[in-house]
Amino acid sequence: MNIAIIMAAGKGLRVGGEIPKQFVEIDGHMLVEYSIATFQQHPGIDEIIVVIPEDCPSAITQRLKTQFAKITRFVVGGTERFQSSWNAVQLFADRPGDNLLLHDAARPGITPRIIDDLLQALSTGEAAVTAMPAIDTVLRGDNERTLLETFNRSRVFYAQTPQAFRANLLFDCFTKLWQKGGITPTDESGLVKHFHPDIPIHIVIGEAVNFKVTYPNDLKIVGYNNIVQILKKHENKATADEDTNMPCKTACGDAYLPKLSRLDRSSSVRNRETPVTEDDYKYMRMAIEVSERNIAEGGGPFGAVIVKDGEVVAASGNRVVPNNDPTAHAEVTAIREACAKLGTFQLIGATLYASCEPCPMCLSSIYWAGISRVFYAGTRYDSDDVGFDDSFIYDELAIPISERSIPFRQILHKESLRAYHLWATKDDKVRY
Ligand SMILES: [Zn+2]
Repeated sequence: MNIAIIMAAGKGLRVGGEIPKQFVEIDGHMLVEYSIATFQQHPGIDEIIVVIPEDCPSAITQRLKTQFAKITRFVVGGTERFQSSWNAVQLFADRPGDNLLLHDAARPGITPRIIDDLLQALSTGEAAVTAMPAIDTVLRGDNERTLLETFNRSRVFYAQTPQAFRANLLFDCFTKLWQKGGITPTDESGLVKHFHPDIPIHIVIGEAVNFKVTYPNDLKIVGYNNIVQILKKHENKATADEDTNMPCKTACGDAYLPKLSRLDRSSSVRNRETPVTEDDYKYMRMAIEVSERNIAEGGGPFGAVIVKDGEVVAASGNRVVPNNDPTAHAEVTAIREACAKLGTFQLIGATLYASCEPCPMCLSSIYWAGISRVFYAGTRYDSDDVGFDDSFIYDELAIPISERSIPFRQILHKESLRAYHLWATKDDKVRY
């Protein structure tokens, strides 16, 4: 039996936010789901075990279990990486011949080819690691940053995961570690090398796409590269389960999602059901054209187009600088233009095409305007790259008023309520 052990117990705080990075959603899927999907689809993998944090909400485990039939159990991890892997490895005390592939959940881009090669290596050996040949020359220095040694690049590798071992070999190494101690290896292969230096560990060549998500921008890369395709394949198979997944998603939200300020939840299930027509592409290209033209006209690199009943009712670039108006984002100015043209304060039935994912202000404006559909091209991370960082606003929205960076203090509460009373008792008011 070949068992994938997904190491998802880490806190992973470097990606930002309070949520462990392996549970951050990208394009509607948690990071951990990408690699699990690849193992699920691989015909050589019989079983998947997921090592989770102690406080992992049951909604997350249910959501994983519902989607991936090969998951046989969840194991609670320990405080250290080794404790976590041991908690899984010790399950195999009486299954010595099984092959264990330990994979880091923060590497969503694991490919079937890597799994093939690892299984092939274990058919003749007992241990194999995934690693990338070094591109740059690797230097070793001392604590003063003085060069001690230059390595021959052709013999230097960067470790990736999975690392794969026969169960009894790893079980034995861990047993010796707990009994004898004395070493702090950085990974399982180091452990095997220490206690069984005679056993060859085969190096399987990894892939760049199998990189480790470490920094916030890495999440963006995940969303953009072909990793998404891996999951899409799986998704087609799992569409029938979509309805049963929904309650889990909601439940997960209760536990974790409110904290996810940098979360890209752009393609929710509902969004995936939004059909895209040729016209949608046409209008989006128009919005992108506006964004490019707008730069020459003194504005920022953003454009928005609003279409209602098959007619373009507004097209605007970002006019913050030319208009001396910090609220003149492309979407907001397009909404103002469309409402003025149509003589209404509501744009129900209209579609907005934004060259970039709307910021929190524009998002609010879209809701207040009652716009029915939104398409966007670039993401907030793209604009972040060229100096438009609105992530702090997402962060501010998620925290209590008292903790916001701009002080908010409530005064004259009672006096303010008179206006509400006047409004409530006015007979001829126009509701909006
Ligand atoms: Zn905006």
